[in-house]
Amino acid sequence: MEGLFQEDLATLSDLDEKSLLESLTQRFKQNHIYTYIGDILVAMNPFQYLPLYEKGVSEMYKCHEKTSLPPHIFAVADRAYQSMLGRLATGPMNQCIVISGESGAGKTESTKLLLRQVMELSRANSQLEQQILQVNPLLEAFGNAQTVMNDNSSRFGKYIQLRFHNSAVKGAKINEYLLEKSRVVQQDEGERNFHIFYCMLAGISQEDKEIYGLLDPTQYRYLNGRYGTTDMVNIWSEKYEEVCNAMDMVGFEEQEKVDMMTILAGILSLGNIMFEPTDSEMLKVTEKSSGWLKATAGQFGVQEEELLRSLTCTMSMTRGEAIRRFHNQQQAEDARDSIAKVAYGRVFGWIVSKINELLAPDVDLDVELREIGILDIFGFENFAVNRYEQICINLANEQLQYFFNHHIFLMEQKEYKEEGIEWETIDFKDNKPILDLFLAKPFGIFSLLDEQSAFPQATDKNFVDKLNSKFKGNPHFEAVRSHNPLFAIIHYAGKVQYNGSGFLEKNRDTIPGSIRGLFINSVTPLLSVLFTATVSRTGTLMPRKAKLLQAAEDNFNSTRKHSVGAQFRHSLAVLMEKMFAANPHFVRCIKPNTNKQPNQVDSKIIMDQLRYNGLLETIRIRKDGFSWRPSFEEFAERYSILLLKPDLPFNKESCMSILNITELHGWKCGSSRLFFKYFHQEELAMLLNRL
Ligand code: ATP
Ligand code: MG
Repeated sequence: MEGLFQEDLATLSDLDEKSLLESLTQRFKQNHIYTYIGDILVAMNPFQYLPLYEKGVSEMYKCHEKTSLPPHIFAVADRAYQSMLGRLATGPMNQCIVISGESGAGKTESTKLLLRQVMELSRANSQLEQQILQVNPLLEAFGNAQTVMNDNSSRFGKYIQLRFHNSAVKGAKINEYLLEKSRVVQQDEGERNFHIFYCMLAGISQEDKEIYGLLDPTQYRYLNGRYGTTDMVNIWSEKYEEVCNAMDMVGFEEQEKVDMMTILAGILSLGNIMFEPTDSEMLKVTEKSSGWLKATAGQFGVQEEELLRSLTCTMSMTRGEAIRRFHNQQQAEDARDSIAKVAYGRVFGWIVSKINELLAPDVDLDVELREIGILDIFGFENFAVNRYEQICINLANEQLQYFFNHHIFLMEQKEYKEEGIEWETIDFKDNKPILDLFLAKPFGIFSLLDEQSAFPQATDKNFVDKLNSKFKGNPHFEAVRSHNPLFAIIHYAGKVQYNGSGFLEKNRDTIPGSIRGLFINSVTPLLSVLFTATVSRTGTLMPRKAKLLQAAEDNFNSTRKHSVGAQFRHSLAVLMEKMFAANPHFVRCIKPNTNKQPNQVDSKIIMDQLRYNGLLETIRIRKDGFSWRPSFEEFAERYSILLLKPDLPFNKESCMSILNITELHGWKCGSSRLFFKYFHQEELAMLLNRL
C-alpha cells in the first residue's frame, strides 16, 4: 500500500510531523490501529472490540516475515520470541518490550495480548501457562481502579519477566513500581478505590460476609459512602469469583486468602474510626465509631486498647526514657490513614512476592535462562497539581526516554551502515542533563530530598528553597514565585510545575514503631508476617515465622535507611541495567480521544502524545540527519527531466548523472537509496521550476 496507507512510516521518503499525524489518523479511520515507524509499533486505542485477536490471527503471526503481514501487536511478540531464540539477526538474547503511553492509551491491554501470544508461541505446559495468564487479573484487582481517565487504570507500574529454557517458558517474575497507596484512603471526584474492595463486597457469600465482619458497602468512608448500580455489582461479583479462581490457580493457600480478605475488611472498618477530645490529653473515638474500633481490632487480630493507643499517641525514646506524645485530631486521623495505606501496600507487595515465589522457574541453577520482559509503566504526567508521585513517574519517563533515544540513535547508525554510507554525528536532544538534575550526587534533586528528609525539623519549604539556590541558572529548572513550595522542571516533554507539599513525608514514608509493634503481635498470621519482613521488593518470603522474626530487624533497618525515592531510584537503575543489556522492542500506545469513544480522533490530543512519547523527536532526528531517502528509482523517475532525457533508465547511474548537473552539496549515496537533507528537496524543486 502506498502513501497515506503505508504500514511502515519510516519507509515514507518524506516523513514529518504532519504526514505522521495524517497517516496514523487515516489508517485508524479504517480500523488499522497498528502502524510501524521502523521497528517501533504505534498502537491506537480503538475503544471498541475489533476482530484482530482471534485464534486464526494468532496462528498467522507465528514465525512470520515482518513485511508479509500488516503491523500487529502479535508481530512484536513474534519478533521478541524469535530473537530470544536467536533466529533473527544477532544481538542480545534477552528481550525487553517497552510499552508506553498515557493513562487509557492501551498499555495494559497490549501487555495482556503480548503475554498471551508469547504463551501461544512457546506452547507452554498448560498449568504454568494458566498460572502466568492468571497473574494479570489478580494484579489488576488489587492494583487497578476506576479513574477519570480510564475505568481500569493501573495504579502501579510493572515489569513482567518471562523466563525460558530453550523455547519453553519455565517461570515468571514481576517487579512492581510505586503503587498509589493514597487511593486507599481518598479518591478524587469521579474516581474509585481499588477494584478489589468493590469485588469483595459484591461477590462474597452472606456467610463469609459475617465471618469477615463486612457490612453494607455504603457505610464505608474509604469508599466515599458510594457503591454501584445493580449492573456494576453483577460485574464485580463475577470478577470476585475470577480473582478467587486466579488465586487458587496461581497457588495461594486457603488460609492466606482468608487472612487477606480479613485485612481488607479491617482497612474498611479502620477508615470509619473518628476521634473527639476528652477531658484528658488523650483523644477518644466518637460514640458512633466505637463499634468500628472494635471491629477493626477484631479484623486485624490486635487488642482494641493497643490499636487505640497507636492511633492517639506516639511513643518515642529520649535518653533511654519512653516519652508519650498525644495526637491532636488531625494527627490521629493521619495515623489512621497511614495504617490503612501501609497495610494495603504490604498486602499488595506480598501478593507480588507470593506470585514470584510460586512462578519461580523450577530448574537447576546452572541451566541458562533467557528472558522476555514486558514493561507496562505509567506515561509522562502533567496535571493541574503535580506531587511527589508525579515527579517519580516523570523521572521514570526521563529514563525511558533516554533509553529510547539511545536506541533510535543506534537504529539510524545501523541504517547508515547497511547502506554503506559514512557515519555522521547526528545531534539529538539528549536528556542526560535532565537525568543529572534528578540523580546527580550529592546535589541532584533526589539527593537533596533525601538529605532534607533526614532532618526531622526540615519542611517542604526548606527543600524547595534548597532547590532554588542549588539550581539557579540550570536550564532545566525554574523557580516559581509563590507562597506555596512550588518549582518547575523543564522535562523532555515540556515544563511541569510541582508542588513540593508533602514531599518530605512521602519520601520518608516511615511507619511509627508503635504501629509496627501492633501488627507484629497480630494473631492474624499474614499481618504479623507482613510487618516483620520487607516483602515488596526482595522476592521470596521465607515461610516460617521464626525465620522471619529473626530477619526482621535487618529488614526493618534496611527499609528505614532507604527513602521511597532511594528505593525507587534503585529499582529503576536495576531495570535500566537489564534493559540496556537486552534487545529492545517499543510499543507506543496512543489514545485517539479523551472521551473513551470509538471512531473519534482529536488531532491535538494525538499530537501531544506523539510529542510526549518521543515519536516527534524520532522524526526530528531523521530530519536533522537525512530527512528524505528516496530509492534510486523514485529519484530518477522524478528528476530525469532535469537532464532533458525522458527515456533514462531509473537506476543509480542515472541518479548520479542528474545530481552531477545540480550543485547540491551534502547528500549521500547508499547502496539502495539516496540520502538528502531537508533543504535539498527545495533546491531540486527550484531547479524544476526553472525548466
Ligand atoms: P493506565 O495507565 O491508566 O493503566 P492503560 O494505558 O493501561 O492505562 P488500558 O487499561 O490498557 O490503558 O486501556 C484502557 C481501555 O481501552 C481498556 O479498558 C479497553 O476498554 C480499551 N482498549 C485498549 N486497548 C484496546 C484494544 N486493543 N482493543 C479494544 N479496546 C482496547
Ligand atoms: Mg494500565
